[in-house]
Amino acid sequence: MSRLRIIGVDEAGFCFGVKRALQLAREATDRHPEVACLGPLIHNRQVVEGLERRGMRVVEGISDVPSGAAALIRAHGAGPQVYEQARERGIKLIDATCPFVRRVQQAAARFVDEKYQVLVLGDRDHPEAQAIVAHAGGLATIIENADELEGLDIHDRVAVVCQSTQRLATLQELVAALLRYVRELRIANTICDATSKRQHASVRVASQVDLMIVIGGYHSANTSRLAQICREAGPRTEHIETADELRSEWLEGVEAVGITAGASTPTDAVEAVRERLLEMAGEESR
Ligand code: SF4
Repeated sequence: MSRLRIIGVDEAGFCFGVKRALQLAREATDRHPEVACLGPLIHNRQVVEGLERRGMRVVEGISDVPSGAAALIRAHGAGPQVYEQARERGIKLIDATCPFVRRVQQAAARFVDEKYQVLVLGDRDHPEAQAIVAHAGGLATIIENADELEGLDIHDRVAVVCQSTQRLATLQELVAALLRYVRELRIANTICDATSKRQHASVRVASQVDLMIVIGGYHSANTSRLAQICREAGPRTEHIETADELRSEWLEGVEAVGITAGASTPTDAVEAVRERLLEMAGEESR
C-alpha cells in the first residue's frame, strides 16, 4: 500500500471569537463560584464539560439565572432584551459576543434606522441570526437562500446583512436574485474573515484529495457548511465529531486525505484524527 498522504487545513481549529470566549469563560469561573452560560459556550461537548467542572452551568436563557449571579453571553451574541433583564435583576454579564458578530448586529440596526427592509442571510434557528434580528428591533427577516425570495413581500429599498458563518456563494446568489426586484440595494458583507479563510483553504485541500474529513459538532452551523463546501469540491466528505467515528473502510482506495475543522473544534481533536488515520493506514505517527 502506498503511503497515505494527509493534508491538514492550516486555518482549522478555534477561531479568534471562540478563543476569546473561552478565555473570558475561564476568567469568569476563576472570579465567580458559579457562572451561568446562556446556552452551550461552543459546539464541543468535551470543552463544555471541562468548563462545567470549573463551575460553569449551561442554562437556556437569562430567566434561568438567579438575580445577582454571573452570566456569560456566547460568541453568537444575544438580543437587547437579555441585557435589559440582566440590568433589572442585577445579573453580572460577561459578554463574549464576538466583535465580528457585533458588527453584523450594528449593521442590521443601522439599516433599520435608515428605513431599509432588512434581510438577514442566515439559519433561521441559529441564535446568532435571531440575536441579529432582535438588535434590529425585530424589524429584520431571516432568509436562508435566494429561493425564499419567492413569496416574500419585497420592498423597493432592501439591505442585506449575513450571519458571520455564511457562504459567499449563497450571498452572491441572493444579491443577484434581489437585483430583479429592488430599486435600491445595500449589502453588508458581514461574513467573518475567519470563516471565509477557512472555507477557501478547505476547498483548496478538498480539491487535492480523495477523502475529506470535517471535524466539529453536528449542531455547529459553520462545520456543517464546511462539510457541504468540501463535498461540492468533489471528494467523498465525512463530517465527524471525534476520531472514534473514523471508519477504516473509508480509506479503501484512498491515497490522500484532507482534514479540516469547524471554528469550535480544539486542535487536539484535529490531531487525534490525524493520528488515528495514520494508525488505520498502518503507519507510525509522523
Ligand atoms: S466564526 Fe467568526 S464571527 Fe464567529 S466567533 Fe469565530 S471569528 Fe467570530
